[in-house]
Amino acid sequence: MTATTKARILIVEDEQDLAEGIRENLHDEGYESEVIGDGEAALARALEEDFDLLLLDVMLPGLDGFTICERIRQAGRDVPVLFLTARGALDDRLRGLGAGGDDYLPKPFHLGELLARIEAILRRRLWLKRSAAGSVLSFGDNQIDLATREVKAWDGAHFELTTREAGVLAALAAEPGKTVTRETILEKVWGRDLLPSTRAILTIIESLRSRLEREPEAPRHLHTVRGVGYRLSLEPEDPQ
Ligand code: CA
Repeated sequence: MTATTKARILIVEDEQDLAEGIRENLHDEGYESEVIGDGEAALARALEEDFDLLLLDVMLPGLDGFTICERIRQAGRDVPVLFLTARGALDDRLRGLGAGGDDYLPKPFHLGELLARIEAILRRRLWLKRSAAGSVLSFGDNQIDLATREVKAWDGAHFELTTREAGVLAALAAEPGKTVTRETILEKVWGRDLLPSTRAILTIIESLRSRLEREPEAPRHLHTVRGVGYRLSLEPEDPQ
């Protein structure tokens, strides 16, 4: 997606009036969208076509929204997912994020809120794509293509980072050698305070260290700046 092409959104919602209302509003905002009301059909469509965003109702005939999202992630697709559901419980919010969703909006919602969430998700993706365009990050004998998220690691391993792992690295690589605060990372990569704590960032940093550092417990590139955030040094530095 670029500023000149319309973002394409798949609306997966079995309440026809609601789905149509969302579609009309998205159209007015300049988005292209299509509506599917059945879970199985939605999964097939999401796998055959590259959408910029999925709006995914949870309670659906066929397959539920969480399962659809899990299957999409299992297929290696990182299309952003915004869950819509009548069930407003915290458990569902967490289940949605655990299934690989990007955000969660309980029904009933104001269309303005929905549009703001969609815009925020698309803006983050655009930031990630722009900051990643054509840039190969190298440090510690790792080669990381931030656009494709492919890694050739120091130990010869080849693998693909998740969108969030690549996002955290891109946020640090934007200012190598400088401390990037946890708040900045959360804002750039998660966008909203979706998660109960900044622990989520540490989990990703640890996952990156386990594969990109020779000694994950004594990192020479991905440094913690205690109480503040993280810092990427392209040249190895002694652990602090
Ligand atoms: Ca429903």
